[in-house]
Amino acid sequence: MPQDATPNLVDPFTLKDEDGYFWVKGNLHSHTTNSDGKPSPQERLDGYVNQGYDFLCLSDHYTITRIDTVTAPEDFVLIQGAELHPHNPFGGQVHHFVALNIHEDMDSAKMPPQHVIDEVNRQGGCIWLAHPHWSSVNILRDTLPLHGLAGIEVFNTTCRCMGRGESGVHWDDWMSLEDRLYPALAHDDSHALEATRRDTYQGWTMARVKERSAQAIVQALASGASYGSSGPQIRDIQLRRIDQDGDKQPMVEATVGSSQAQRIAAICDSYGGEYHEHGKTFEQATFTLRAGARWVRFEVVGADGAKAWSNPYDLRHLKRD
Ligand SMILES: [Zn+2]
Ligand SMILES: [Zn+2]
Repeated sequence: MPQDATPNLVDPFTLKDEDGYFWVKGNLHSHTTNSDGKPSPQERLDGYVNQGYDFLCLSDHYTITRIDTVTAPEDFVLIQGAELHPHNPFGGQVHHFVALNIHEDMDSAKMPPQHVIDEVNRQGGCIWLAHPHWSSVNILRDTLPLHGLAGIEVFNTTCRCMGRGESGVHWDDWMSLEDRLYPALAHDDSHALEATRRDTYQGWTMARVKERSAQAIVQALASGASYGSSGPQIRDIQLRRIDQDGDKQPMVEATVGSSQAQRIAAICDSYGGEYHEHGKTFEQATFTLRAGARWVRFEVVGADGAKAWSNPYDLRHLKRD
């Protein structure tokens, strides 16, 4: 495995307010009557607008729901996309990919998965591996042969309703097999009417941007300037080398600021660690990561058990103060 891979993700917490950056909240996986969703596209959009979201993708199965067929408030960003399902020649179930910022439909059911990925990228869009836990994806078998995916959906509300909402292990597996860091998204994948309270407004992604546009948001997500959540807020992550001359392995101390948390998991390329305060909640945690870890990502568990997922950090390039 290459030891000198350069960090490929942007840390959102280094993008400062004074430089014009701000957070926007969105859901990029939702369905409407244009596929198997219950509400119309306009009803789906109105729901997320009323809940205070900043951006949304109506990602119907196989087909682009055109953003010019609905009416959004001026400062709300609609990202045009679709959930695409190429067949899977590698043995697993049919693929589920969320494609963002695309403008031409394609017959994904008849296309090999690599052609679908290439076509989305050709259109200037980006394409994400959706809910691999729910789809019984085996990364080695089904995902590793493919190139050009932007990242992974780590949380999916509607899949949680079926017991398989989280795909953190798939994420770690993928990064370890490819020795590459991928960003993640959290989504509702809403199908039901909001009145059922089944799969709406429970999984979202926060993106760090300088402007409210589809281009800026998609670029932030693909570069890792984001985090996903089903509840908690992540406010800051600081990493600091603390090893001394003569120490055999680099040592890194992490400080994570968040809304009230009961636990923070630090998930490394192998092993990991956990911070907690014996039943008390906290808003800041400082703790040491496993010596010699190559990368780390954080999961913050709120007082009510809801989670937030940071993107991964490459630790191999962290310099000593
Ligand atoms: Zn799906
Ligand atoms: Zn879906």
